[in-house]
Amino acid sequence: MKISGNTKIVGILGHPIGHTLSPVMQNAAFAALDLDYCYLPFDVPPEQLADAIRGLRALGTHGVNITIPHKETVFPLLDQLTEAAQKIGAVNTVEFTDNALIGHNTDGQGFLRALQEETEMNPKGTRVLILGGGGAARAVAVQLALAGAKEIQIMNRTLERGRALVDHLQQMFPSLQALSIPWVQEVAAWQSALEKIDLLVNTTPVGMEGKEGGSPLPTESIPSGLLVSDLVYHPFLTPLLQGARAKGARTLPGLWMLLHQGALSFEIWTGKRAPLSIMRHSLTETLASL
Ligand code: NAP
Repeated sequence: MKISGNTKIVGILGHPIGHTLSPVMQNAAFAALDLDYCYLPFDVPPEQLADAIRGLRALGTHGVNITIPHKETVFPLLDQLTEAAQKIGAVNTVEFTDNALIGHNTDGQGFLRALQEETEMNPKGTRVLILGGGGAARAVAVQLALAGAKEIQIMNRTLERGRALVDHLQQMFPSLQALSIPWVQEVAAWQSALEKIDLLVNTTPVGMEGKEGGSPLPTESIPSGLLVSDLVYHPFLTPLLQGARAKGARTLPGLWMLLHQGALSFEIWTGKRAPLSIMRHSLTETLASL
């Protein structure tokens, strides 16, 4: 990588940030298109976020991704929000223009693009069960509702948080059937929940490398006609996805959401079409080497 006086700096703000795959994916894309950009990770604790944003603006930074725990707290530090960021209530991409800091959210659209391009599922009229009720669940739920999903159930460990997300969805999408349901344990209860849906999306960290927990649900309860998506991307095939494949169900790994949300951020910053195959290759190679 050649750094010059004209190199445009982009990056990612999070805490912790050591495990991010975004620098390798974005820098590979810039190199492939011969763009004079450099993408850097910045470990920013919550109490330093405002100073970090002010400093990046003063330094003439071109844009940043925002990740845990700053996706919501960055709101008051920005000048404008896109409709998606407002509806989702979180920002994962900031565009620095001459006059304004614009907050975008590419998580939801990244999920939708992954779903459509990797599985060819059209969410219109579908019934969806989302496991988890945090920021990622909100992005996925809002985007699926915008894309015409018929029914969205939220199963969250903390029922009140799931209910709050359902209230948010009902206010924004009055014709959507949105429902909060308690986390279930028994195989029969999982079977009954899964047989009534078309798409299952795990947005909890259960199954992530280095964390205990395996699959969030019993493999034997997965019907073969289901499409199972996991937002966890390390490992590539989580215990949930391995179980789903063993049962003959279709799967959507979280790495493809990471790819497409990153591609959308790249397009916001550069105005150019993202080189998807290069970005995909850099992600899979890096993940395989971890
Ligand atoms: P978050 O806001 O902290 O929410 C986490 C959710 O997971 C909460 O609903 C929490 O339930 C639930 N949860 C945590 N541990 C659990 C457990 N042991 N059993 C059951 N539920 C549990 O985090 P987030 O921003 O939504 O991110 C969630 C996951 O999505 C992370 O693994 C993140 O890496 C991944 N993600 C992936 C992509 C991608 O591009 N592939 C993009 C965004 C996020 P409670 O409410 O009960 O605490």
